[in-house]
Amino acid sequence: RAVAAPPKLVTKRSEEIFKEAQELLPGGVNSPVRAFRSVGGGPIVFDRVKGAYCWDVDGNKYIDYVGSWGPAICGHGNDEVNNALKAQIDKGTSFGAPCELENVLAKMVIDRVPSVEMVRFVSSGTEACLSVLRLMRAYTGREKVLKFTGCYHGHADSFLVKAGSGVITLGLPDSPGVPKSTAAATLTATYNNLDSVRELFAANKGEIAGVILEPVVGNSGFIVPTKEFLQGLREICTAEGAVLCFDEVMTGFRIAKGCAQEHFGITPDLTTMGKVIGGGMPVGAYGGKKEIMKMVAPAGPMYQAGTLSGNPMAMTAGIKTLEILGRPGAYEHLEKVTKRLIDGIMAAAKEHSHEITGGNISGMFGFFFCKGPVTCFEDALAADTAKFARFHRGMLEEGVYLAPSQFEAGFTSLAHSEADVDATIAAARRVFARI
Ligand code: PLP
Repeated sequence: RAVAAPPKLVTKRSEEIFKEAQELLPGGVNSPVRAFRSVGGGPIVFDRVKGAYCWDVDGNKYIDYVGSWGPAICGHGNDEVNNALKAQIDKGTSFGAPCELENVLAKMVIDRVPSVEMVRFVSSGTEACLSVLRLMRAYTGREKVLKFTGCYHGHADSFLVKAGSGVITLGLPDSPGVPKSTAAATLTATYNNLDSVRELFAANKGEIAGVILEPVVGNSGFIVPTKEFLQGLREICTAEGAVLCFDEVMTGFRIAKGCAQEHFGITPDLTTMGKVIGGGMPVGAYGGKKEIMKMVAPAGPMYQAGTLSGNPMAMTAGIKTLEILGRPGAYEHLEKVTKRLIDGIMAAAKEHSHEITGGNISGMFGFFFCKGPVTCFEDALAADTAKFARFHRGMLEEGVYLAPSQFEAGFTSLAHSEADVDATIAAARRVFARI
């Protein structure tokens, strides 16, 4: 069978801008994965985004499956979100004082997320996770925390231990600058493996403040938990007097209206959120049982603060985004287009005899170039990253923008149509024929 030559992708302006950026910003970027190190080739420099698409500075258009790494769930530049933001600009972009919008978004979050009875807004997912860590320690009077290999919870010192995509991509197991004593208080278990958790609790009796996990992993690629795993963690934490925290920065309001905890029917004690609840503005949040949240200052003694926390722009974008997601059919649409996409990509790969395993839940998906199954980060390492890099470049040439790492999940939005998905599958079929 004749294999068509790849379309020519001209990225001259992207190259010029990235070259200059490398003199101005470390590695030319403000967040490492954006530099395309794990897929090779220079990064695409964006000019604008709208709906399911992004355009680069050379005028190339792509169907976008990164969605600003999750927030763009209503589609980029959703008109309703934009109009709400425009109206808010005239009233002020930052108050540093209470505003009613905080109550409105808090009520929406509390209504939807089973574990959340009270919430604190912050400005990033990293901030939410580091605050929740302090809260777990303050509440239990214990210092150790248990996380899972390959899960990312932002870049706070305690979490930069076996921390998934960003650090794997750079080949750094951990980061210099993290004190040994801090890293030593972070215990790591294997995802989907309750025995590894039980062993750590047995070896650190009465010392573990809490367990934090991505309830569906996105930072080692897309990995789903078994229901038994989540149920088992719930039981172990309750029995051991440890706090269970679901990091729903990525999965929150994406997997389901009530987040992954609603999807799986397991309620943690605390939850961290970000991305979607800011609708594209910088935001994060943590929440949970009132009894625990009342430890946070000024209600209680655990200090945590923020100049821009709860700022009216982020609250406005979050409120409008959750309102749109609350309409009938929103999650059905995400599930329908995303399942069609992942089924189509996997079928196309198999037609050309590539090993592949993957899946989706609602608007989050991923695939690995290996036989599978992939149930934890250790399994994910079997994936053929060199093939992923060729696939990624091939898809760019075909006008499809995928996350630039084998170890990242993909995202769809309400703006992605079946026609977008079918065009993506057709592109994947052409790329699979030539890689
Ligand atoms: N937790 C999870 C599960 C994430 O995926 C991320 C970011 O990708 C974070 C925390 C950190 O959030 P942020 O990048 O907003 O600091």
